[in-house]
Amino acid sequence: MQDQSIDDHLNTGLFVDGQWIRSSSGETRDCINPADGSVVATVDEASPEDATRAVAAARAAFDEGTWPHTPVAERTALVARIADLLERDKEILARIETLDTGKTLEESRIDIDDVVSVFRYYAQLAAVEADNLVDVGRPEVISRVVREPIGVCVLIAPWNYPLLQISWKVAPALAAGCTMVLKPSEVTPLSTIAFTALIAEAGAPAGVVNLVQGSGAVLGAALTGTPDVDFISFTGGLATGRVILETAAKNVTKVAVELGGKNPHIVFADADGDDSVDQVLTGVFLHSGQVCSAGTRLIIEESIADRFVAALAARAEKIRMGNGLDPASRTGPLVSEAHREKVERYVALGLSEGARLVTGGARPSDPALADGSYYLPTIFDHCDRTMRLVQEETFGPILTVERFSTEEEALRLGNDTEYGLAAGVRTADSARGERMVRGLRHGTVWLNDFGYYTAAAEWGGFKMSGNGRELGPTGLAEYQETKHIWHNT
Ligand code: NAD
Repeated sequence: MQDQSIDDHLNTGLFVDGQWIRSSSGETRDCINPADGSVVATVDEASPEDATRAVAAARAAFDEGTWPHTPVAERTALVARIADLLERDKEILARIETLDTGKTLEESRIDIDDVVSVFRYYAQLAAVEADNLVDVGRPEVISRVVREPIGVCVLIAPWNYPLLQISWKVAPALAAGCTMVLKPSEVTPLSTIAFTALIAEAGAPAGVVNLVQGSGAVLGAALTGTPDVDFISFTGGLATGRVILETAAKNVTKVAVELGGKNPHIVFADADGDDSVDQVLTGVFLHSGQVCSAGTRLIIEESIADRFVAALAARAEKIRMGNGLDPASRTGPLVSEAHREKVERYVALGLSEGARLVTGGARPSDPALADGSYYLPTIFDHCDRTMRLVQEETFGPILTVERFSTEEEALRLGNDTEYGLAAGVRTADSARGERMVRGLRHGTVWLNDFGYYTAAAEWGGFKMSGNGRELGPTGLAEYQETKHIWHNT
């Protein structure tokens, strides 16, 4: 069905004030399937004027519309209806995601299931939220803290988990009573376009959810440098996050940034075994390493390092690579040709820095993959902290290996990064496991597991990995202002 144009399922324009409109510039952009270089769809490319119009629509819907004052039961009913529609359209949404990103259909289906669970979670959380009564020690005073929607939100997402990342923002924003402008990555806008149509179908009032797709560099100032916006939630790279924080600062706009990671996966000798090999492998090579929380730095106890790395390499060489629509494929291509070239530059850098290539380091030789942006799972051994390969986010299928001899050294290496998004520890010693997870300066730490999350627990980074939290109760609080009402009765 790849031939069946996705255009049939998508209105490829912009969505502003409840209407699908065409870009004012008349410009369009082709969305490329990275599995074979074909054009999946051609979508409108918004101009800065379009972005300003979308912000104005969200502003008017907040200031003059009913949504912020709609009873919470009605708001959460809309959020739950969106979950129902996502479930109804799961297969086509998963297909769109696979065509646009290259990830396997199985991964895309898991993403959509996760999106549904995020909508269900916020529908119930917002429904049970209560005012906080505060005893001020004076019987005639009723003091309460109420929560109100923060206002107009700009929600900016990356290309690696397009629908998932935007849903972590849209679900709590809607539940809180905010209005919003969505800005998907220009590399992968399609699932967000389809999602916006579902939100409209679910009955969101005009202006509550608006969508502009296009270049972040072109639209950025109109979306993030205006006093009409109250909150910006951004997920993407560190460099872009810095630009947005600077642009928003002049209006003192609140910004939450979810940025990159250089995540350690620490394996002690007592956790040696197939299970550890499996988890390290999946932890780094899932979605070809294009995962913010990918375990890209294996930190392994010296005594088992040689054998463990050999076992990993043997397994990595067997990963079946191919078009994500083929059920036999275990991993797809990188998201674009430009991204593959970036990964190749990092491999060349690693070699020049003296890292020892164990496997990969090349495009696959299979002629069937020649038209796609595929890159082999790559492992570099004998790496150290001075290498840029060890310190910078490559966002590709590259694992670096560092070795340790003591627990203190393992912890030091695990924290030896400017990032702090996620980390994994594998050990059979529970006391040591507890010391390690408490010592690691990362927003999520997995002990004897890797890569899992739940809508009910906060996600976010320490240090350069970001400053906000998504998911969990804090993920809703980000979209709310608190107001203290002091009532002298
Ligand atoms: P990116 O920073 O290039 O782009 C992210 C988004 O920002 C895109 O929509 C882009 O158009 C937009 N953008 C670009 N310039 C802008 C500007 N000046 N103003 C406003 N918006 C602008 O990131 P990417 O390459 O799409 O995604 C990969 C990055 O995302 C990686 O660093 C990854 O670690 C990170 N990420 C983090 C998390 C997390 O939870 N912390 C999750 C997924 C991805």
